[in-house]
Amino acid sequence: MDLLEMTGKILAYGEICDHCLGRMVGKRSFGLSNDQRGHALRVSHALAENVPFRPHEGTCWICQDLFSRVGDWAGKVEAALEGIEYATYLIGTRVPPLMAESEEMVWSDLSLPSPEPLKSEMNREVGKAVALLTGKEADLANPDVLAILDLSTGEVGIQVNPVFFYGRYRKLERGIPQTHWDCRVCRGSGCERCNFTGKMYQDSVEELIGRPAMELFSAKGAVLHGAGREDIDARMIGTGRPFVMEIVAPSRRTVDLQVLQEAINSSASGRVEVSLERWTRRGEVETIKSDKGYKKYRILVEIEDPLSLNELRSALEALKGVTIYQRTPQRVAHRRADKIRERHATEITCLGPEEGGYSIEVTGEAGLYIKELISGDNGRTRPSLTEILGRPARVLRLDVVQVQSTREE
Ligand SMILES: [Zn+2]
Ligand SMILES: [Zn+2]
Repeated sequence: MDLLEMTGKILAYGEICDHCLGRMVGKRSFGLSNDQRGHALRVSHALAENVPFRPHEGTCWICQDLFSRVGDWAGKVEAALEGIEYATYLIGTRVPPLMAESEEMVWSDLSLPSPEPLKSEMNREVGKAVALLTGKEADLANPDVLAILDLSTGEVGIQVNPVFFYGRYRKLERGIPQTHWDCRVCRGSGCERCNFTGKMYQDSVEELIGRPAMELFSAKGAVLHGAGREDIDARMIGTGRPFVMEIVAPSRRTVDLQVLQEAINSSASGRVEVSLERWTRRGEVETIKSDKGYKKYRILVEIEDPLSLNELRSALEALKGVTIYQRTPQRVAHRRADKIRERHATEITCLGPEEGGYSIEVTGEAGLYIKELISGDNGRTRPSLTEILGRPARVLRLDVVQVQSTREE
């Protein structure tokens, strides 16, 4: 079917606007807008048929003259974004099913090879109008905000995309979980057990960093993505643990990281301390969570019955570098699959006696359970210090002193 025959058939469906007519061949040729395509088809058709030219009048049966209101929609987008800081945006359109079905019916009736959907023309045209109105830039890949035009209700919905920053935290106080834990009794709704906070612990590293951050970003939430996590009763000291913080729905995006770092460190004073390194993107969340770097721990170990330092040192030597078989520890068995893992401790040295026990430094592969490496966990971890010494040993205190990120050597 040639273009003029096709135009005649399309015009026969009913009154149609130049945008909707032009979109039927929307992917043909370049450098034209759809209404220019539609106008040209209409003119060519009148010439070919030698009938009087008649422009579009009345209401388009497909879009109800939606495109004459592009400017209004752009104004609604601008108003909906008031008070929100953004440099880039993307427009999306929720098209009523009937509207989409109307044009799809023509495509399939006439087997059209290159139509463009209404949704994409609307996104583009309103996008251009918003650029003129606001001086901001459209960004298809990574916009700061997304404005959704709901054609049925006439409303614009706004989704503010998160910002992400990368840093390291040190947890200087024991007893703080990394992330917020719902109360076990009420599961977060609030009860007497949790003093109606809905939480098992009053604070978490996530909240201690997140609260001042939410304030500076005027955000709705803050989610911590850590490179692993330490036990609640362990400190995280030394160079700190790498993390990415996701700031949810921020109304402000240009926050000075130095100022933010100071705000966090002064509000979490003495409990958690951060150094913020740079801005990052969502992609790094997965990378950081799957990080398989080595970790270095300093532990205080208690051993039953006295022993010589040499005895202890040779026992530790026997643990170094050998394959350690660890069945999922009893203390985490309720939330982890029961299996046997093979791990290694690359370094393990005794720093000397301390507080009636021994201070020991261990460098281990990601996933090595340190407490069980010492206690043996009733034979579930083998070998263990307990097994080698032939007497019970246990960890009294644990600090993580270094979390290596696999990207740094
Ligand atoms: Zn139309
Ligand atoms: Zn509760």
